Amino acid sequence: MSMNFASPRMLLVAGGAVRQLADVLARFGLSRPLVVTDPFMVGSGHVRHCLEPLERAGLAIAVFSDTVSDPTDIVVEAGVERLEVGDYDCLIGFGGGSPIDTAKAMAILAAGGGKMRDYKAPFAADKGALPVIAVPTTAGTGSECTRFTVITDTERDEKMLIAGLGALPLAAVVDYELTFSVPPRTTADTGIDSLTHALEAYVSKRANPISDALALSAMALIGANIRTAYAEPHNAAAREAMMLAATEAGLAFSNSSVALVHGMSRPIGAHFHVPHGLSNAMLLPAITRFSVPGAAARYAEAARRIGFARDGDNDDTAAARLVSGLEALNRDLSVPTPAAYGIDEAAWTGKMALMAEQALASGSPGNNPRV
Ligand code: NAD
Repeated sequence: MSMNFASPRMLLVAGGAVRQLADVLARFGLSRPLVVTDPFMVGSGHVRHCLEPLERAGLAIAVFSDTVSDPTDIVVEAGVERLEVGDYDCLIGFGGGSPIDTAKAMAILAAGGGKMRDYKAPFAADKGALPVIAVPTTAGTGSECTRFTVITDTERDEKMLIAGLGALPLAAVVDYELTFSVPPRTTADTGIDSLTHALEAYVSKRANPISDALALSAMALIGANIRTAYAEPHNAAAREAMMLAATEAGLAFSNSSVALVHGMSRPIGAHFHVPHGLSNAMLLPAITRFSVPGAAARYAEAARRIGFARDGDNDDTAAARLVSGLEALNRDLSVPTPAAYGIDEAAWTGKMALMAEQALASGSPGNNPRV
């Protein structure tokens, strides 16, 4: 066994933690942030949760709010132009995975120049021009504590995985109270994204003892809380559990890997604009069924932790219950099929070869227990 475990230098996890944002910056001697967020966060007033503590501390704050869901190279380049005309000493990624990934990519591109494509994995994107403080407002991607950012190359319609220490935030401020406003559809999609991170980290060929512990804990939290968070947006206990799980699952896969689900999910997102967690959800039961023979005991243990199987179930029974449990979860969370989502079958078939090529090129499928 060998591992190289990396995490943010500070992980502040608490209800109301965002109110300590200025203190976090002060601990690192930072005082001139550029806040990177999306137009919804600004329009809905959510960004005030981030700005108020900074204003109270008397910091000069600037906001770049042009990020888009599934961030593109174009938006990252615009963000870097904005960086270059100001005098900033850090970036605060405030929002779901998209603004956080944008902030990370801006730091990487500003450090090395060129085009975002130059940094596509397996390139080691280890340098960041500025430190990133991540404040997630969805419980899903775990981007606040991963060494990845996912950026779409708009010329090739490819969601590129960019990996390296340059993408690892300096600090993450993880406050579940920011997720009360997340609508049920996004709660379901992001929650299944976290579940997929935990499950893929646990069955990956690159799993290690620390990622295992985090992945198993995340699966137990998600299994016990995802339906409640979906049905009762203001249930504090469920929101807190889902947020902690997202961070644990992020640490797990960042230090193990994702696998076939994520490899196939990214091209679906790039070509058909399906939200990331939802395309994971569409794929998860079928890919789990395919993959079980490669790591039956691990899939069985995952089923027990999630609560789909009982402790006394043998591995075959437990693994079968995992697949049926994931199918039932998709039904309960109203996950549509690609056709029901509105994807045209002819367009889907036409893109199949390209999507397969892009999935394989990402490297993620090679980590799957069954290749
Ligand atoms: P997102 O950031 O695109 O947000 C989805 C929607 O939810 C947006 O409209 C946003 O404005 C809204 N939203 C966010 N917080 C909200 C809140 N508190 N209340 C109400 N609405 C809110 O979605 P996401 O799923 O968080 O992130 C997806 C992106 O993250 C994808 O590009 C995916 O590829 C990437 N990703 C990155 C990593 C990583 O390690 N870097 C891991 C997984 C996924």
